[in-house]
Amino acid sequence: MTWEEQLALDAASFAEQLSYLRARSPFYRDIEPVPLERIAELPLTTKQQLRETVTPENPFGAHFAASREEIVRIYSTSGTTGTPSYIPLTASDLDNWITGSSNSYAASGIEPGQRIVSTYNAGPFAAGAALASFERIGLTHIPVGTGNTDKLLRAIELLKPEAAVLTPSYAAYLAEQHDLRESSVQRILVAGEPGGGEPAFRAQLQAGWGAKVTEAMGIGDIGVSLWGECEHQDGMHLGARGFVHAELIDPATEAPIDMRDGAHGELVLTHLKHRAAPVLRFRTRDHVQVRTTPCPCGRTGPRIRCIGRTDDMLIVRGVNVFPSAVREVVSAFAPDVSGHILVKPAQPGVKQDPPLPIAVELARDARPGVELADAIRDSVRGALVVQTSIELVPWGTLQRSEYKSKLVQR
Ligand SMILES: [Zn+2]
Repeated sequence: MTWEEQLALDAASFAEQLSYLRARSPFYRDIEPVPLERIAELPLTTKQQLRETVTPENPFGAHFAASREEIVRIYSTSGTTGTPSYIPLTASDLDNWITGSSNSYAASGIEPGQRIVSTYNAGPFAAGAALASFERIGLTHIPVGTGNTDKLLRAIELLKPEAAVLTPSYAAYLAEQHDLRESSVQRILVAGEPGGGEPAFRAQLQAGWGAKVTEAMGIGDIGVSLWGECEHQDGMHLGARGFVHAELIDPATEAPIDMRDGAHGELVLTHLKHRAAPVLRFRTRDHVQVRTTPCPCGRTGPRIRCIGRTDDMLIVRGVNVFPSAVREVVSAFAPDVSGHILVKPAQPGVKQDPPLPIAVELARDARPGVELADAIRDSVRGALVVQTSIELVPWGTLQRSEYKSKLVQR
């Protein structure tokens, strides 16, 4: 389907979604019924606004638009950016989530009949809903869950899966600790945090696993693995097309930004067919870059790459700095560096005075010359226009994570 055809369908879904919200959602009851092409006239929604409407009688918030009996599942957010909140789903919401997630993961090239080992827990967090997409695709799903490296390695050795799904941090940790180049795994599907699309980091992962790495991305309040990269590895396609509408805004001014090729800004998402707790123009805090050139895989529509979380962003003398972007520049110094960094802001808050202190971990057995720190500093300044002070630390100094790595020390 061309993107224009998709947008025409989305416009009809959006009109229906708005009538539903006006009839059923206390939070959006008074929303103006504008057509999809004028969506930017509607107010943005933040996580904080929704959270403020939570009451003992309504633990979901005022955007809850269904009845208690219609809810088939309730997830909670991990609470990394505040108190955990609850995400209710109706049967159709859950089904749409799984369809979108299946589209996103299937884009990676995994095929029915192959085996995939997963390292996410089917626990309280929304990411667990993505697990059902593997059966939907027709894969043999081998769940081993989070934090059990021995079980994972045994499953890979004995069950010989063609694919593994992990966070990029965990994939990097495993490749660093174990020789996986000869394993059966030919595809690594990473999700859960930015990083899988950073060229240097990805190259390191691919070399360590002897496998192709593609990334996926979602957000609990909207849906799991909404976006997924195809084998051409040139940004994530919207797997949840038809269910979710995407926009870009300038995070500072909230002005809409055209989704033209090369544009970047904060991703804003709107449900098109959601029932339980639908949101409109939800600020994801994900800062993304857009590609609109045709993809050889034939999928249409804009593709995105996540540059970082707006929450992790620091401002150094007026310049926005994403720690994941720093890591990308630093990773180009492999094989001297391990790829692990830690930004250590000297001041509390977002605004920092230069130079920004950054610990860069050396690779195992690296014996770099004195000029390495200077070269990294110059390269970061050249690429990101920010003054840093680089401290080289020995291999193994920075904390590894089996889920998501911390890039900023607070
Ligand atoms: Zn593609």
